[in-house]
Amino acid sequence: MPSFMEPFRIKAVEPIPFPTPGERREALEAAGYNLFRVPARLITIDLLTDSGTSAMSAAQWSALVSGDESYAGARSFERFERVVTELTGFGEVLPVHQGRAAERILLHGLLRPGRLCVANTHFDSTRASVLATGAEAVDLPVPVPAGTVLPFGGNIDLTALEHLLSGPDGGRVACVVLTVTNNANGGQPVSLENAAQTRRLCRRHGVPLLLDASRFAENAYLVGTRSPAHAGATPRELARAMFDLADGCWASLKKDGVANIGGLIALRDPELARRCADQLIETEGFPTYGGLAGRDLDALAQGLLEVTDPAYLRYRAESAGWFAERLERAGLPVVRPAGCHAVYVDAGRLLGHIPPHELPATAFAIELYLAGAVRVTELGTLVFGRPDPAGGPDLPAPSELVRFALPRRVYTSNHLEYAAEVAGEVAAKVSAIRGYRITEQTGALRQFAATLAPLGGTESGHS
Ligand SMILES: *Cc1c(COP(=O)(O)O)cnc(C)c1O
Repeated sequence: MPSFMEPFRIKAVEPIPFPTPGERREALEAAGYNLFRVPARLITIDLLTDSGTSAMSAAQWSALVSGDESYAGARSFERFERVVTELTGFGEVLPVHQGRAAERILLHGLLRPGRLCVANTHFDSTRASVLATGAEAVDLPVPVPAGTVLPFGGNIDLTALEHLLSGPDGGRVACVVLTVTNNANGGQPVSLENAAQTRRLCRRHGVPLLLDASRFAENAYLVGTRSPAHAGATPRELARAMFDLADGCWASLKKDGVANIGGLIALRDPELARRCADQLIETEGFPTYGGLAGRDLDALAQGLLEVTDPAYLRYRAESAGWFAERLERAGLPVVRPAGCHAVYVDAGRLLGHIPPHELPATAFAIELYLAGAVRVTELGTLVFGRPDPAGGPDLPAPSELVRFALPRRVYTSNHLEYAAEVAGEVAAKVSAIRGYRITEQTGALRQFAATLAPLGGTESGHS
C-alpha cells in the first residue's frame, strides 16, 4: 500500500459510470475510434487531462457564495489580486478566462513579425499564440543523453541560449519563457539555478524573462525534493523565489489554480500591463473580471492559497510516483522520473510491431478504453505526426507516448490501482493489438476531430 494517503476526506461524491464491454465497443465505433468524441458518461476513469478537472475544496465552494458580481471593481477581484500579488510579488494582476487568453494578449503585446520567442519548450497553445503574431517560437530544452535521468529535465539549455543571444539572431529575441513545469517535455521541473542563470543572460542582453506558471506549485515542490540545496524551504517560498527571477508571468489556473476555469497575467511593468488591459477590454471583458464570474475569482483566490500546502503537494507527487510504479509492475514501459501531473507510457516500445503511421499510441489508448473504460491521451503520430507531402505514410512523431493525466484531488489510489490493472491486462496481450488508419482529418489539431478505422480485419478482433 502507498506510504502516503489523500490529505482530505470526501464530502460530495459523483457516481462513476461502468459501461459494459458491448457499450464500450459501440461507443468507440460511434466516435470513429477517437476518444475525444466519446461522451464522459461512458468513461469509468477519465485521465484525459488535469486541466479544469480539479475537485474544489469546501472552502472554495463556500467562497463561491461570497462572489461579488459587480461589473467593475468587485470585492472578488480585490481578493484575487491580493492573493496573486502576495504569492508572486507582481504588482499588476489581470484575470482572464483561461491560459490561452493570457498568452494571446501578453504575447501580442511583446512580439511582432520577425522577432523570436525562446523557451525551454513552448506548450502547444503558447506556440500557436507566438506564431499568430508572425514571430517564431524557438525551443531550447536541455539535452538529455540517452539512458540518463535528469532531476531537472525541464530546464532550458543555457549554452544554446547564450549562443543564440550573443549570435547574429540575438537582436531578434523579444522574450525568453520558462514553462514551469515543462508540460510539453514530460512535466519535468525547472531548477531555481537554471532560472537564475537564464535571468542573468536575459539581463545582459536586455530581454524580458517570463514564466508560463501554470504548474508553479508542482514545480516548487519538485525543486524542494530534488535539489538538496533547497530541501528546507517551503513550496510557497520556492515558488516565490522563482517568480522573483522573472519580469512577469501568465498561467492557466485550470491547473494549479485547483479550479475549473480561469487564468491570469501578472507583471511588474505598469506600461505593459496597461497595454494588456486595453486588449483585455476588447476581447475578454473589464480588467477586474477578465471573462470570469466574480465567484470564479473567489474560488481561484482560495485555490491559489491551498495549492502550495506541503501535504497536498506531497500527496500529488507521491501518488504520481506510486501510480508510475504500479504501471511498471503491470509490465508497462514508464517514462522516468514521473513528475506530478501525469505519468507517460512509451507505447512505441510496448507495441514495437505497429509502425508509427499505424498509430501505436492511439491503438494502446483505444485498448485501455475497451478493456476498462479508462480514458488517456495519445501523444504520438496522431497529435505530432504530419501528412507526407509526397502522399506516402504519415511522417512519424519523435515518440509514441500515452499520457495518464491526474486530475487534482479527484481519484483515490484505489481508482488508480484499477487503471493500472486495466493497463496490465492490455500489456499482457500486446501482440494481438493492431494499428489504425485515419479515415477523416482536418486542421492543425487533427486529433480532436479525426475519425479512424482499425486495420487488418474486423473490429471484433479488438474485443
Ligand atoms: C494548459 C496550459 C496552457 C493553456 O491554458 P488553457 O487554460 O488550456 O487555455 C498554457 N501553458 C501550459 C504549460 C499549460 O499546461
